[in-house]
Amino acid sequence: MNLIVAVPIAETDSRTALVGLSREGLSEAVAALGEKPFRAKQLWHWIYHRGATDFAAMTDLAKPFRTRLEETHVVGRPSVAREQTSTDGTRKWLMQYADGQKAETVFIPEEDRGAVCVSSQVGCTLTCRFCHTGTQRLVRNLTPFEIVGQFMLARDSYGEWPTPTDERRMLSNIVLMGMGEPLYNFDNVATAMKIVMADDGIALGKRRITLSTSGVVPEIHRAGAELGVNLAISLHAPDDDTRSLIMPINKKYPLKELMAACRTYPGMSNARRITFEYVMLKGINDTPAHARALMKLVAGIPCKFNLIPFNPWPGSIYECSDADTVIAFAQMLADGGFTAPIRTPRGRDILAACGQLKTDSEKLSAKEQRERAAQAAQTWAEKEAAAP
Ligand code: SAH
Ligand code: SF4
Repeated sequence: MNLIVAVPIAETDSRTALVGLSREGLSEAVAALGEKPFRAKQLWHWIYHRGATDFAAMTDLAKPFRTRLEETHVVGRPSVAREQTSTDGTRKWLMQYADGQKAETVFIPEEDRGAVCVSSQVGCTLTCRFCHTGTQRLVRNLTPFEIVGQFMLARDSYGEWPTPTDERRMLSNIVLMGMGEPLYNFDNVATAMKIVMADDGIALGKRRITLSTSGVVPEIHRAGAELGVNLAISLHAPDDDTRSLIMPINKKYPLKELMAACRTYPGMSNARRITFEYVMLKGINDTPAHARALMKLVAGIPCKFNLIPFNPWPGSIYECSDADTVIAFAQMLADGGFTAPIRTPRGRDILAACGQLKTDSEKLSAKEQRERAAQAAQTWAEKEAAAP
């Protein structure tokens, strides 16, 4: 599914952004302005190594070339409609794009490093029942400019230009775990990630990038082969019945197919494992029997778990499992030989934690929200009635 499209930089501005063009795209843009190919290399360096936002700063480019660039292009950054910082240091930006659509980016700092959580779509077509983004209809895919721009803007905010040449950088990782399903916007995500990985620019290694998917099986292998980034799977249940109940995509790509895709994901080893994300939902997926089934399901896959306490949002129908239940679940996995940390929720006070992201571009009406909640409650009741 590729719903997009280049979007102009602003509705009143017909110039196009250079950020987000692949290396070939940048060469073509330079050639179209009648310049020699090495100019594309210089521009790339200014944009992705130095972080320049203004052609005037690019002093080794001839003045007439800079003038022509200014007439036809901008370097490009998304505009920020709002920036919030949580009491725990987590920072969230609400990006507003040229057509008025919005998406969120979150930076989760740790002591001397941190991950930028990047969105891939405005909203999401999938309707995982525990996810706030899932109540927002997909408006559109984000362009490569809009995806790379999120990371570049975070770097602006933390003053990390020029690109640090050693590994000491605060913005050390990217997780594609913001709004949207990255594998339903694969081409644009891939272009964006190839840009951030390029050695002579932002230079973030493929091992510092993690793509999270709800399980779009046909695209999983492609992500491994073309990008080689780390893979995280939003697993959340060990059997098809439970998983289909909370993640409708499971009906399309059931666990057998998903696990087969994980087993053949390129480059996996004990040193480089798949992460299985598992949101702890009270009374749904958190019993010892679920833990046992989970270990059986993933047997033989080099993997680790990430247990995520459910983060509530306005109107959510689930509750987080009790702390004791989460701890007991983690302990069972640990006893089974699995790494299974419990993720500390970050940025809950600014709705920046996992699954809380949602922009106001298209909300379900109150009636639709009630209908969806009633539908989920009914399916849950049916399941409970059917349980032995
Ligand atoms: N669409 C992709 C990536 C974005 S979601 C995916 O589903 O993998 C990022 C992670 O947050 C996923 O593991 C998702 O299942 C989880 N998540 C969604 N809603 C949540 C919530 N309310 N509480 C905790 N985690 C949630
Ligand atoms: Fe979409 Fe991921 Fe949320 Fe599911 S969990 S609705 S795939 S963003």
